[in-house]
Amino acid sequence: MGWSLDDTIAAIGTPPGEGGIGIVRVSGPEAPAILRRLVVPTRRGRAWAPWRMRHGHVVDPASGAVVDEVLAVWMAAPHTYTRQDVVEIHAHGGMVALRRVLELSLLAGARLAGPGEFTLRAFLNGRLDLAQAEAVLDVVRAKSRAGLQAAVGQLQGRLSARVGAVRGQLIEALAHLEAAFDFPDDEIPPCDLPALLEAAAAELDALLAGAEQGIAYRQGLRTAIIGRPNVGKSSLLNALLRAERAIVTPIPGTTRDTVEENAVVGGIPLVLVDTAGLTDAADPVERLGVERSRAALASADLVLWVVDGSQPPHPDDRAIATLVDGRRGVLVVNKSDLPRVPGHEELAPGWRAVPISALTGQGLEGLEQAVFQSVLAGRVEAGEEPLVSRPRHADALRRAREHVAAAARAHAEGWPGDCVAIDLRAAADALGEITGEAVSEDLVARIFADFCIGK
Ligand code: GDP
Repeated sequence: MGWSLDDTIAAIGTPPGEGGIGIVRVSGPEAPAILRRLVVPTRRGRAWAPWRMRHGHVVDPASGAVVDEVLAVWMAAPHTYTRQDVVEIHAHGGMVALRRVLELSLLAGARLAGPGEFTLRAFLNGRLDLAQAEAVLDVVRAKSRAGLQAAVGQLQGRLSARVGAVRGQLIEALAHLEAAFDFPDDEIPPCDLPALLEAAAAELDALLAGAEQGIAYRQGLRTAIIGRPNVGKSSLLNALLRAERAIVTPIPGTTRDTVEENAVVGGIPLVLVDTAGLTDAADPVERLGVERSRAALASADLVLWVVDGSQPPHPDDRAIATLVDGRRGVLVVNKSDLPRVPGHEELAPGWRAVPISALTGQGLEGLEQAVFQSVLAGRVEAGEEPLVSRPRHADALRRAREHVAAAARAHAEGWPGDCVAIDLRAAADALGEITGEAVSEDLVARIFADFCIGK
């Protein structure tokens, strides 16, 4: 592969801004020498021992000026994140001091690390497989507890182990077919190919069954809050955000007129798409709800349709019902603090209808449950956490599943072994894309480009 591994890289490993501490990380053969050049330990006269945190000062070797007071540690190859010598200098978390420490590391012989290059080295040196390397990013970016749990499981190799086991079986069957093909006269021990393929298919199906939920946990579901004007859409958005003000950060919408907000509802991270800013003066007011709903629905995975339960259903609600037909969602019957007018539940057959009051917060728990249920939809049994959390993995599993089915078909129809082998190999290769055994340099580059510098 075209990546260099024998030079020494350095980067600031902590986020920009002010913090109690900030860490400069250095990896590569020169790391220990850079440490000795930069850091003057407080208790001198002893050599640097690995894994020992030492107090000292970073001193500019050129001028002798003290840059910062630090703690520093050298972790000796190969038992480190990158499998190389790694040095961490824990300085005060101000950008000027950290940049200066980084600069001095570069002057002392390191090169500035590219995005994700520490983790790339961990992958290239066999410390992590590709799915585990991706999990590093998912742990850092986890949006919910369930998402974190899935990412940590993936980092520990749980997905890789399951995928690797199926791949191993396919490769074994492949070796068997090839042996029979290459040495037709030899006694080849029997292999129950149909049973093996059936087991592989069942295991791939089991992994795929949790994929949708796993992906939802990882990246959040785009959720449209729709409904006619004045039914309480903005109030619902605010109520959901208020419930967890502490971890909510508004992010700009994809268009000028929408706002997207993150909230964890029923344990599932939602990207709430608020269309409150959408106005169309040319439209008669009573059409506005329908037009806005249509726009919001375009990119949504989940729909929260709000109706005013204190008013009879409006003719426009019929139009919205047509729009949401076949979508996944929850009918939010708002204003439950006012006397209820019946007739709303029938608007969205197959959806749960949940009475709430966005004003008082009453019923929000029921809404959380309904969101959880509609996303889960009985696909994964309770207690069983999904392992697949990236579309890339689901796509590779699906392709592997198709090739396994094709191999089983070819075998059943009595095709020669080398025809069956083509599909077996394709299935094994697809699985190898997940863990990185069979993967192009391009794909690896694309995956690591998503990381930021310092990881
Ligand atoms: P939107 O146009 O759908 O975004 O609706 P708003 O959230 O702006 O609410 C319209 C009006 O309904 C406002 O005056 C809100 O105070 C009121 N409202 C919203 N939710 C409730 C509720 O649960 N109960 C009552 N009584 N009024 C509500």
